Amino acid sequence: MECRNRTVVPTRLPSYATEMEHDGRTYTVTVSDLDVSRCTSCGAMALGDEALDRLSDALRQTVGLLAPSEIRARREALGLTQKELAGLLQISESTLCRWETGAQYQQRCMDRLLRGFFEVPEFRQFTGWEAQPSSALSSAK
Ligand SMILES: [Zn+2]
Repeated sequence: MECRNRTVVPTRLPSYATEMEHDGRTYTVTVSDLDVSRCTSCGAMALGDEALDRLSDALRQTVGLLAPSEIRARREALGLTQKELAGLLQISESTLCRWETGAQYQQRCMDRLLRGFFEVPEFRQFTGWEAQPSSALSSAK
């Protein structure tokens, strides 16, 4: 919304709560010290990229989803490329890529699939994963 008065000033909100939808459910997400732009005339707020990123992070935390950086780090710890992991999980490489860049949230069931793969060796083997010599070293007992 825009009013005619464009007196927009940067404002830090001590606490900002909003409802966000994910995978068919609505969550109340709260962040503190959020930097926004606010119109002094009508009170309309605009959220920049940084503010939107913080809300995305907060939504992931609220839902309990792996963060994009965690997905990437755990994949790399197993010595897998995006293509290899996508193949083992039977998902498309572009989907995995969007999860890792944060362009898309994984559904809750997909998050569970990822965690199962990362945390349960037997499940990894079930998918057909085989430890490479390099990753076998790093996961040695
Ligand atoms: Zn205004």
